Amino acid sequence: MPTERYLDYNATAPLRPEARAAMVSALDCDGNASSVHRAGRAARALIEEAREAVAELVGAHPAEVIFTSGATEANATLLQGSPEGPRLASAGEHDSVLAVPAVEPVALRPDGRIDREALEARLSEAPLVSLMAANNETGVVQPIAEVGAMLRAAGGRMHCDAVQGAGRLDKETWAGADYISFSAHKLGGPKGVGALVVRDEAPLKPLIRGGGQERRLRAGTENVAAIAGFGAAATAVLREGTHEQARLAALRDRFEAGLRDLQPAVVIHGAQAPRLANTCCFSLPGQRAETLLISLDLAGLCLSSGSACSSGKVQQSHVLLAMGVAPEVAAGALRLSLGWASVAEDVEACLHALAQVIEKQKRRVA
Ligand code: PMP
Repeated sequence: MPTERYLDYNATAPLRPEARAAMVSALDCDGNASSVHRAGRAARALIEEAREAVAELVGAHPAEVIFTSGATEANATLLQGSPEGPRLASAGEHDSVLAVPAVEPVALRPDGRIDREALEARLSEAPLVSLMAANNETGVVQPIAEVGAMLRAAGGRMHCDAVQGAGRLDKETWAGADYISFSAHKLGGPKGVGALVVRDEAPLKPLIRGGGQERRLRAGTENVAAIAGFGAAATAVLREGTHEQARLAALRDRFEAGLRDLQPAVVIHGAQAPRLANTCCFSLPGQRAETLLISLDLAGLCLSSGSACSSGKVQQSHVLLAMGVAPEVAAGALRLSLGWASVAEDVEACLHALAQVIEKQKRRVA
């Protein structure tokens, strides 16, 4: 069996040891965080400690953080609730945003960034705009601060899906957003927990009603172990700081240089725009994504085609199509995404496996 090499961090990151340890320890905490007795207070303390770390990721106040079951719920809570009225969102948003009936898509430019003129022309239609910090497929970083300023001037509010950007982009990125969504598992925390930051008393209607948890904005007894794991992952990300992004950028750049050597006609999607340091979405001419994924999987390499949430079903990437990528090129797109446990050998092993696939194909054609 080949060594498993995990290169799919934008789908989910492996659990960090710190997060695992925090979760195991929190499982011994028997109280309900709403109870006043000591067991309840111990559970509450773990939640509040995690809230501080999560808030710090985006320079928010801990009181602005509402824990949810993940970013899908955070996005749904906001976009299905307040403020009332239609919402605009970039056409490259995650399905958890685009699937909300009130959401109207705004075009992307060929480089993957939102078409700001198109957005500006429609601002009067909607009191809320949802724009992701960075795209899960291409890693393209959106102009959050600029769009936030544009919206403030127009009296609108801004939501930022920070799932792929949190911990990877500068803290200044988040200054213009009124609402920010997170998911723990992309940071090396557990799956099934996330948060919505609601800034400066911006309006919010709960999606899930019941008990008074999370300032009456998200009912349900808190999953203390998952929240503790989320907090530990956020703390680890904060500790790593910008060095980690520089390390990942060097690995990603080496991968892209290797790809160009292998196949000069490779298309790297979003390469004309600012991108996350960890992501490379590429199409090799004449290659289909499913065939490549199977060959890579046999070599122990875990990568993704299109959006991981929809893999399994073979469907075109709505993000690449919105960027105007030709359907036959989009059908070949693969995504490599790196993270906290990635090492140079992972990238070299991936290049080696791709070289073998290309070589085999050349022999078949000859
Ligand atoms: N937004 C983006 C940009 C994502 O990448 C994902 C996860 N693929 C989500 C939202 C949904 O997050 P969760 O898995 O926590 O529901």
